[in-house]
Amino acid sequence: MTRDLTDSLQAQRQAAGPAPFPTLAVRRERLARLASMTKRHQQAIVRAIQRDFGQRSETEIHLAEIIPVLHAARHARRHLWHWMRPRRAGVPLRLWPARARIAPQPLGVVGVMSPWNYPWSLSLMPVIDALAAGNTVMLKPSELTPHTSALLAKLAPQYFTPEEFCVIQGGIEVARAFSALPFDHLVFTGSTHVGRQVAMAAAANLTPVTLELGGKSPALVASDADLDSAADAIIFGKGFNGGQTCIAPDYVIVESRRLDALTHALEHAIRRQRPTDIEATGYVSEAHRVRIDALLNDARDHGCRVIEHGDHAPALVIDPHQRLPLMQEEIFGRALPVISVKRIDDAVRLINQRPHPLVLYAFTHQTTLQETLRRGTRSGALVFNDTLIHHAVPSLPFGGVGESGSGAYHGRHGFERFSHLRSMFYQSKRPSSRWLRPPYHRWLLKLLRLG
Ligand code: NAD
Repeated sequence: MTRDLTDSLQAQRQAAGPAPFPTLAVRRERLARLASMTKRHQQAIVRAIQRDFGQRSETEIHLAEIIPVLHAARHARRHLWHWMRPRRAGVPLRLWPARARIAPQPLGVVGVMSPWNYPWSLSLMPVIDALAAGNTVMLKPSELTPHTSALLAKLAPQYFTPEEFCVIQGGIEVARAFSALPFDHLVFTGSTHVGRQVAMAAAANLTPVTLELGGKSPALVASDADLDSAADAIIFGKGFNGGQTCIAPDYVIVESRRLDALTHALEHAIRRQRPTDIEATGYVSEAHRVRIDALLNDARDHGCRVIEHGDHAPALVIDPHQRLPLMQEEIFGRALPVISVKRIDDAVRLINQRPHPLVLYAFTHQTTLQETLRRGTRSGALVFNDTLIHHAVPSLPFGGVGESGSGAYHGRHGFERFSHLRSMFYQSKRPSSRWLRPPYHRWLLKLLRLG
């Protein structure tokens, strides 16, 4: 197994040559092929994902799996000429007339490891950015979505040579061996726990990593927030894909005097958005269902009020204790704790006691509070008055900080993440730096002493 993986990596390295630099035309054409691989097989993608999840809304599959890939490929094709161009860098006056530039260069072979929750888009979005940056790519999709992974493995060779892009299928053993390959860069999307092991495996090869991890993203409802629209956005974020979204609001925080009103607004939003289970997403495995049910039962056993609307819609858990597993682990499912605090300052303190989340959602239009949160908290993204939608803004870097990940991608940020930003320095025919060379003049020392 390890031998096959190493052979695939060597084949990509050799085909690319010692210093690969695909032209703009080659990169654009690769991106066009990747887009066709998604566009032409939409029905097969929908079917594969629905089989993997047992049940999943076709609209949500288009919104979250197909459209993001098509948009990301289009955005990269449109802007690539600009991103690829070496750009001027400033040179201090004392070094004039030398010139400096920054020239992006491909890294080589990029490894991509993807999770099960958005098995098509989270596999291909990093691939798009890596191909745009002129790299070749090996992808290891999740073993928990076998139909989608098999479809990726079947279609990739129809659109790419294995030296450009290949898909490696397999379970945890293959994933472990994959993470130990000496890639030029490794992107891992998954849990913080496994991310740590992947980073350790990559460290042995000095392979740089981008870690797109998870965590508990809070949604803070401030005193000026309109409760109905906040509840609407929170339930959208939690209900989408059954709460199995890395940027789903994990729990809600509100001032105690508004707890009852917010609970009603959330219930109302659930009834309106999820009146039946028809549009719901199933569990990827029985173990995932059992885990969420156990979290809810545990909360009930500890005397919490749990408000359920069917088996798949978000289930509200009112004021669970911070020590319950529900408030310790990333939920990644339909349970939605609603925590009450006396004052907003307590909410900020609560958020800051925990590892930095992937997103901090805040429902407020008060600019002073927005600024307090900007300066006083840390998270991958800070999003006001909506959920999930920031993912669709290609000019924003997407990634976490601390336990929620390191490094970001999407659009130009992904292009730069998977490029080496090479420093270029052009000395002039009459360099000013010649005064710095020995034998040193006495006046040089005098000048240096001035600082
Ligand atoms: P996971 O970490 O359990 O597994 C991810 C993949 O890692 C698996 O498919 C498996 O093949 C591989 N793996 C398992 N053990 C390994 C090991 N020891 N060494 C190397 N590879 C190993 O994650 P998951 O359950 O597939 O996905 C859910 C998690 O992903 C959640 O925590 C979620 O927040 C996170 N996530 C993050 C993002 C993001 O963009 N930040 C997006 C989606 C999901």
